[in-house]
Amino acid sequence: MMKKCFGCLAESQKTTDDHVPHPYIGAIAECWEVFGGILVKEYSDPDYFKVHRITCDAYGAQHIGNKEDRRARQSANVHLIALYLSISQIASKEEVLSFIRNATKIKREWPPVLQRKQPQWLTVQDIIKADNPSSHADLVTKWGQSICEAYEDCHKQMIELYQQVSEV
Ligand SMILES: [Zn+2]
Repeated sequence: MMKKCFGCLAESQKTTDDHVPHPYIGAIAECWEVFGGILVKEYSDPDYFKVHRITCDAYGAQHIGNKEDRRARQSANVHLIALYLSISQIASKEEVLSFIRNATKIKREWPPVLQRKQPQWLTVQDIIKADNPSSHADLVTKWGQSICEAYEDCHKQMIELYQQVSEV
């Protein structure tokens, strides 16, 4: 039996019901587990790890969670902005990391990110299929690009928020 993730909207194989999902990442436990499988590959092989930044930001940007929860809003915004910075090459890896540090240093009020209705994006179900590091890197990059395209209407706001955080 399949179960649809309310974040990325991908179908995952339904497992037992007693899995506890992440406290504020907007994903069902089954999707979170597939993501865990991707992280295991990245942590156990430096060649897989090369795109780790994009993997984390892509997943966070696709699972925006409850917009009433400040932590969820922070996670959605920060991952989405970081992903956009990486994919559009506006900022270097170091600048992206420094943005993430600055953005999460104090408790800011972040605007809600709106759930995409019918996104044409890749999901963990596509990424987990990679069987070698170069296909993994290629898929993760396409995953990130497809998410940036789905949030095209937010790019201007992302840059403004990035600049606000960087000015402090
Ligand atoms: Zn999901």
